[in-house]
Amino acid sequence: MTNPSVSASDNKTASVQASPTLAGDINSRAFSTAAIHGGYDTAGNAEACNVPIYATAAFDMHTAEHGDDLASGAVQGFSYSRVANPTTAVLERRLAELEGGAEAVAVGSGMAAVSYALLCAAEGGGRIIAPTSLYGASVDAMLSFFPQFGIHADFVDDINDLDAVEALITPQTRAIFAESVANPSTEVADVPALAALAHRHGIALIIDNTVPTPYLYRPIEHGADIVVHSTTKGITGHGNAIGGVVIDAGRFDWSRGRYPQLTMVEQAISDERNGEFHSFWGKFGPLAFIRRIRVKYLRTLGAVPSPFNSYLQLVGLETLAARERQEVASATAIARHLSQHPRIEHVNYAGLGDTAQAGLVARDFPDGVGTILSFSPQGDESRVLRIIDAVRVFSYVPNIGDSRSLIVNPARITHREVPSRYLKAAGVDDQLIRLSIGLEDVSDLIADLDQAIERAYRD
Ligand SMILES: *Cc1c(COP(=O)(O)O)cnc(C)c1O
Repeated sequence: MTNPSVSASDNKTASVQASPTLAGDINSRAFSTAAIHGGYDTAGNAEACNVPIYATAAFDMHTAEHGDDLASGAVQGFSYSRVANPTTAVLERRLAELEGGAEAVAVGSGMAAVSYALLCAAEGGGRIIAPTSLYGASVDAMLSFFPQFGIHADFVDDINDLDAVEALITPQTRAIFAESVANPSTEVADVPALAALAHRHGIALIIDNTVPTPYLYRPIEHGADIVVHSTTKGITGHGNAIGGVVIDAGRFDWSRGRYPQLTMVEQAISDERNGEFHSFWGKFGPLAFIRRIRVKYLRTLGAVPSPFNSYLQLVGLETLAARERQEVASATAIARHLSQHPRIEHVNYAGLGDTAQAGLVARDFPDGVGTILSFSPQGDESRVLRIIDAVRVFSYVPNIGDSRSLIVNPARITHREVPSRYLKAAGVDDQLIRLSIGLEDVSDLIADLDQAIERAYRD
């Protein structure tokens, strides 16, 4: 029943598969070349230089015979945009290439990506180990929503405390889930160590790589099995679209008993008329997980991205490397400036290399940890609120990864749904301000913060 090799016969998911791709992967060309050209061929697209927006719900099946072949998976092609769309397919191939993954499924938001990946792994009563420092909506989902579906979380305060993580592993554990760089603390996860631990127990490692983007960090190269992103953030880069993606490294063995949902027969991928019955693992081997995301989760729960939003993300990707380079340089300069400011008590930015994680950062993040940082001004929360009201260049917005610089007070806004015990472990309190650094001139950003802080302490 098992077929670990993914060969031509496995590509029978017709409606799931996409049109021809450019050859090669990230190992054969550099990042920005792949970010601009990956997964797209002008041939078959009216020679359009930019990826066309295929604004169509469905695709012409031409003949009854072709319709039958499409539906059975005997031939590749598009049939209905809830399952696959040519514009979105380019984005999926490009993101898979940039992350060094085998296949990707783009979805309508980062939370859809997080939810689909975690549910797909833990479906049927599984448990997930995760740090308390996760993105607020992810904590809320795992703490008070997924349990309603019989899926439970075991939280640790420090995901790099491998003994604590290992102590939580049970026969029901299906995944370790962590953010490569936590928001807003910027603490980094030791992905190679977590991957080794997870794999020793036959468990998958799922990494939310939103904060660093694949330009700064590529978790699959460090051992992760599944990567998720909120593409709303640095990948789209202009705060103009919501999106998410699930990317599969395509090398995890799902057949060893922990994941019965991937080895049981599924009608959706079987051919009853011809008496052929398949499981996801049996039909797709190591691509079982990502195919299940598309065929079950996207097709059933339906958080599909619009082709227009996929297009905006493709445009954003073209400048990802250039944006990240400038924004990391500005974030580092701002973190340094604030850490010397007499009104600022402390600054959280792992990129300064002054934390207990300096060795880990130097080893795994040579180009920086990302474009967000956080800091605590002296005094009480009233100073935080006054600083927020006094900025003129920064926008007061619950988002990150925009070309505009953003400011927010996480305890009241982005992390409001998180219980206080978890907030504390994540380093979030009423005194914390988070910044997301954009592309404005860094001198204007520093001057803006200085004048806002000055006004916040004027009585
Ligand atoms: C924003 C974010 C999400 C959720 O993404 P949406 O696109 O807003 O649904 C998940 N994880 C992290 C780390 C994020 O920053």
